[in-house]
Amino acid sequence: MFESLSERLGGVFDRLTKQGALSAEDVKTALREVRVALLEADVSLPVARQFIKAVEGKATGAAVTKSVTPGQQVVKIVHDELIAMLSGEGPADALKIDNPPAPILMVGLQGSGKTTTTAKLAKRLKDREGKRVLMASLDTNRPAAMEQLAILGTQIGVDTLPIVKGENAVQIAKRAKQQATFGGYDVYMLDTAGRLHIDEVLMDEVQAVRDVAQPRETLLVVDGLTGQDAVNVATEFDEKVGVSGVVLTRMDGDGRGGAALSMRAVTGKPIRFVGLGEKMDALETFEAERIAGRILG
Ligand code: GDP
Repeated sequence: MFESLSERLGGVFDRLTKQGALSAEDVKTALREVRVALLEADVSLPVARQFIKAVEGKATGAAVTKSVTPGQQVVKIVHDELIAMLSGEGPADALKIDNPPAPILMVGLQGSGKTTTTAKLAKRLKDREGKRVLMASLDTNRPAAMEQLAILGTQIGVDTLPIVKGENAVQIAKRAKQQATFGGYDVYMLDTAGRLHIDEVLMDEVQAVRDVAQPRETLLVVDGLTGQDAVNVATEFDEKVGVSGVVLTRMDGDGRGGAALSMRAVTGKPIRFVGLGEKMDALETFEAERIAGRILG
């Protein structure tokens, strides 16, 4: 994750720290390179601009240019601004899953990794928090997707709602709620159907399910490799169904990282988790400091 961005920035900062004394012009030149590196990582243009402006304001002051280690000061300012950009108003809260049974609605486009993430998160809640979790697939268009969730459930030791043919998504959501209530589950997760693109039918269905389930959390799963598209998908889902957090998948790939960097600044929504592989334990909580550390090496 972030290898190429990290390499580019590393080069810029190496030169800065080796330079000794720095003029305001040196800082500006370096920040122009940082801006290009961010854009190449597919960070959205307004976010990159805003970032550079914030860094420049702090980095061209006398405190930096007159300091004994000006290059290092600039690197620290970039580090702090990265954290600010990644965490917005503050760090992401823990999932709101008290008051059992707590519904978690999983939404996203087809192929984003939604079903895999549903199972990964269920496993995490079971293993780390000792929660009894029930998972239900609402993808009535794709029986294979329903079976996939059942198979993953067996693999990780988490119950899935039995599949009943002929039900629609809202009926399944109601049955999941009932079973979760009477079965003494702490959490039930609704894995909604995805589509290849956002369309009205998809959004209508997700809204109907949301109205029935009244989810405590609505987690949007997006493919981290899709850069700015991931951010656009998040904006649309948030407008239409309301999203409480984002999960970025495929962050193990050689994606350029832009989605992670722009998501909070553009959508205002926190990234809650990142997917780092196909295995069931390849899910990490998203921590701005760790991510900033990875980017700056
Ligand atoms: P859905 O259509 O959104 O439910 O997508 P799936 O959960 O079926 O995932 C599609 C493919 O992406 C599967 O082959 C998953 O194993 C894979 N996948 C999901 N999350 C990740 C991830 O974080 N990293 C990698 N490398 N693959 C992932």
